[in-house]
Amino acid sequence: MCSLERARHAKAPTQFPMSDKERSLRLLNEEIIACRKCPRLVEYRERVAREKRLAYRDWTYWGKPVPGFGDPEAQLLIVGLAPGAHGSNRTGRMFTGDRSGVFLYQALYDAGFANQPTGATPDDGLILRNLRITAAARCAPPDNKPLPSEILNCRGYLEREIDILRPRAVLALGKIGWDVFLGILKHRGTIPARVGYRFAHGAEVDLEAGLRLFGVYHPSQQNTQTGLLTPVMYAKVLRRVRAFLEQSGVSLETVPGAQKRKRSASV
Ligand code: SF4
Repeated sequence: MCSLERARHAKAPTQFPMSDKERSLRLLNEEIIACRKCPRLVEYRERVAREKRLAYRDWTYWGKPVPGFGDPEAQLLIVGLAPGAHGSNRTGRMFTGDRSGVFLYQALYDAGFANQPTGATPDDGLILRNLRITAAARCAPPDNKPLPSEILNCRGYLEREIDILRPRAVLALGKIGWDVFLGILKHRGTIPARVGYRFAHGAEVDLEAGLRLFGVYHPSQQNTQTGLLTPVMYAKVLRRVRAFLEQSGVSLETVPGAQKRKRSASV
């Protein structure tokens, strides 16, 4: 078992009993990590982990499905697309280890959702506050493009994560995350169709029971390096998300104690 696996399976400190949500998320994570439902993605994630990129040749790649990461009491859920081949597929933690993560975590830190602006290694102390990050597909896909059938295979995990968390706000990173989330609501009969919920950067729609969906462009290098997406654009949307949560009665300043958050970051 590698050090990351040991950290993930490490027992929580006994002075903080595990909440029902933490327990459920931990069980879900274990199931996700063991998943091999998509043969194409299993072959790709494991081959990338074996062959490695030259710059990371000394790393032991994670090479498995990447579970959600963050605060188990989060009121904000971020839904991305899929792990990066040499990012999350290497680190084992959502949106870390590549340029997308550099952009995203700086923005989350600036907005008060993360305790530090970077997340380069699994033991770097990164903690999310009131936020959990997950993805439509949990395995790194070739060309960053999971097939519709692979997203469908993975959808049940996202549904369960949503049911455990019951977030007040969902932030979709890109159109696929937006469509997958709305697809779940359509499948459940919460909305009649996805038509009428058009994705755009800065889009926001009110859904069931006080839940609001926000959309931003995906923080891919293609978007950030061409200037299509800037830090100012993310900051503006994250301010709106924060304001919405505060208006909904979520106390963003009185999150559980630091020790508890520290432990929760590894769930
Ligand atoms: S993408 Fe999801 S369903 Fe497919 S193998 Fe990975 S974890 Fe399993």
